[in-house]
Amino acid sequence: MSIDFYSLAVPSIATLSPYRPGKPAGELERELGLTDIVSLASNENPLGPSPLALAAATASLSRLERYPDGAGFELKAALHKAYGISSDRLTLGNGSNELLNLAARAFVRPGDEVIYSQYAFVAYSIAAKACQAQAVEVPARDYGHDLHAMATAVSERTRLIYLANPNNPTGTSFSEAELRAFLDSVPERVIVVLDEAYTEYVDPQAGLPNGLELVDDYPNLIVTRTFSKAFGLAGLRVGFAVANGQISDLMNRIREPFNVNAAALAAASAALEDHDYLQRTLENNRRGRRQLSEGLERLGLEFLASQGNFVTLELKREAQPVFEALLRQGVIVRPLQPYAMPRHLRVTVGTERENSRFLEALARVLSC
Ligand SMILES: *Cc1c(COP(=O)(O)O)cnc(C)c1O
Repeated sequence: MSIDFYSLAVPSIATLSPYRPGKPAGELERELGLTDIVSLASNENPLGPSPLALAAATASLSRLERYPDGAGFELKAALHKAYGISSDRLTLGNGSNELLNLAARAFVRPGDEVIYSQYAFVAYSIAAKACQAQAVEVPARDYGHDLHAMATAVSERTRLIYLANPNNPTGTSFSEAELRAFLDSVPERVIVVLDEAYTEYVDPQAGLPNGLELVDDYPNLIVTRTFSKAFGLAGLRVGFAVANGQISDLMNRIREPFNVNAAALAAASAALEDHDYLQRTLENNRRGRRQLSEGLERLGLEFLASQGNFVTLELKREAQPVFEALLRQGVIVRPLQPYAMPRHLRVTVGTERENSRFLEALARVLSC
């Protein structure tokens, strides 16, 4: 090869650090010959998929020779029934990650500024850099979004802002009053993407906003939701965005015509009907978050208050060796070095048994 193809690439892409996913259980099995691995690395639903969603996905497989419905008619109807959102304000995505990218592709020109918070989900910086934007990372406050500082960072060149509520990987959140004050202060020409991937888990008493109720008041707001977390369909890749009709039209123009596959469309529609599954999911998460918090307190460890399905804990030492020692015990969690949090680990809330396995393994590792 006589050409260095990196030198031909768009500079902001050539220098991009790729997303590092959680370690797959199969990889650990192959490396260490372990079985019975506890996988708490990617904030997946520990209860498995909803039985209704699984049945719908399975039924869809008998028509695999057909393209899916590119308009997503049935899923949009189900979303309208569940949330009262009309179809002209919806964009369906191959996971909500695709929607985060579509928002940037629709609005961000090379050199425009895209703002997000320190410790925010890495997909935002990847989306911004892929569009050759100038990424503006605003320092966090107590590991969460400093909305006041983010509003102050807006300049003439700012085109788009990413917010996550609750945030991953920290579990931090902001209130409806804080969000409204922020949205009131941001010019309407700046698109605000509010990523609500974990919103179902939020404590209803905590005063967090429901982004879907704000889209009418703020025409520059795009709210993204996913079926990957509380709805237990991470493997199928499906999410949705809600925004005003013009923004939704633009995002729909540039998505691939069949971006959401047939099994995902069927499963997501069914998942919205499975209220029992969602209740069990939320109950398991409440109990599990408490179990993990109490267990970490017993170990004398600090952790961030989380509104999500994960807990982010701080070790009093480098987290990477602890992460690796946990792997040897068959427990996969997420080290946060890629987020410049080298002493933190993020652990997904699992079943009671999985949480216990994690806490026992951590106690063993830390006592060595
Ligand atoms: C998991 C997650 C998503 C969801 O990604 P999908 O592409 O829908 O699976 C989006 N945002 C954040 C902050 C997440 O943690």
